[in-house]
Amino acid sequence: MALIVQKYGGTSVANADLIANVANRVIKAWRDGHKMVVVLSAMAGETDRLIGLGKELAEDPDPRELDVLLATGEQVTVSLFSIFLRSQGVPATSLLSHQARIYTDRAYGRARILGIDTARIKEELKKNRVVTVAGFQGVDEVGNITTLGRGGSDTTAVAMAAALKADLCEIYTDVDGVYTADPRICPKARKLEQITYDEMLEMASLGAKVLEIRSVGFARRYEVPLVVRSSFTEAPGTLVTVEDEEMEIVPVSGVALDRNDARVTITRVPDRPGIAVRLFRPVADANIVVDMIIQNTSIDGHTDLTFTVPQGDLKKTMELIRPVAAEVGAQQVVGDKNIAKISIVGVGMKNNAGVAARMFEALSGENINILMISTSEIKISCVIEDKYGELAVRVLHDAFDLGQPPPKKK
Ligand code: ADP
Ligand code: ASP
Ligand code: MG
Repeated sequence: MALIVQKYGGTSVANADLIANVANRVIKAWRDGHKMVVVLSAMAGETDRLIGLGKELAEDPDPRELDVLLATGEQVTVSLFSIFLRSQGVPATSLLSHQARIYTDRAYGRARILGIDTARIKEELKKNRVVTVAGFQGVDEVGNITTLGRGGSDTTAVAMAAALKADLCEIYTDVDGVYTADPRICPKARKLEQITYDEMLEMASLGAKVLEIRSVGFARRYEVPLVVRSSFTEAPGTLVTVEDEEMEIVPVSGVALDRNDARVTITRVPDRPGIAVRLFRPVADANIVVDMIIQNTSIDGHTDLTFTVPQGDLKKTMELIRPVAAEVGAQQVVGDKNIAKISIVGVGMKNNAGVAARMFEALSGENINILMISTSEIKISCVIEDKYGELAVRVLHDAFDLGQPPPKKK
């Protein structure tokens, strides 16, 4: 009999009926003799509602108190879930982060899991109870409540599966697997039977929110057998796994769109050693993650410098950069939220020439202007105007024939 960690996202537990519906899935697996740990998200929309409430009282709510507030969303679903299970004669115990002993650092709103002490959970499982664990939340070394960042319940589930050495970690959501592109944007998107950890990591980091990026990092590091499935159907889902010989051999396996970044341009920056560090040091010290950076070749001793940051950090970044830019004698700092990052991902890209050219050609065919480009071994990303984001997904999906199942290696 297996030890299974299942995670249900917000849309799967959005109301009492849905909770009962997914709980029946858990009951079935438990009656079949499996040991069940169930990680839950807050009801759909609840985390946003709570953030909104906080913002009614403060423009920039205190991060510690905000985490105390946001953690309540998951407290509601684990208790309701266990109430239903018990009403069906299934012994169940709900655990919040301090009870499940999910230890994190103190980075409120983006806390990192440092370790999980599984003793309590194992005790409950030994008593043959279903354990429901509040996703998204953790506890620091002195007992402060933290949250892991949006979508963080995925990470709770995978980290839990790794810590428990579970036989399987199933992520139940509102689509029946990982697709070649977001199926809500691209009707021709095709469900993948398998995807490598590396590709999934890139897809997640580039905006495919079906799995939160840190969860994929955990899954890769500990080789957690990870499946993405729908909580509304019995379809088999997508296995996220190590690269194997028989896997699809295509240069591009997916397209991802990220509409959450903003662009900052600093014009006429004097081209001298030490300027970049003066500009970027304060941004780094504020814990703001800079993604793409582009610096033009200097013509007359000045260059333009452009980089991207999460939209939510744009205001802060501008406040930090403006005074330094003035100090070093740059001309102007301009922020722009109307951008999107469109990316193609594929492990097969490594050995394939011409992928970038094909991408640029497809975008130019629709008159989509490319504002920035960045590449890695298995992805190419372009920043474009936000209004073309969804069109670009469909265009690239067509250009790389992603709707067609690729040939197998053997
Ligand atoms: P949950 O609340 O269950 O965690 P999310 O909304 O976080 O669900 O993630 C599921 C959503 O991810 C889907 O509804 C889909 O629109 C989106 N998505 C983006 N890219 C992809 C992709 N490549 N494959 C599947 N879903 C994707
Ligand atoms: N409830 C949290 C969020 O909405 C965590 C999650 O759903 O994974 O981001
Ligand atoms: Mg999610």
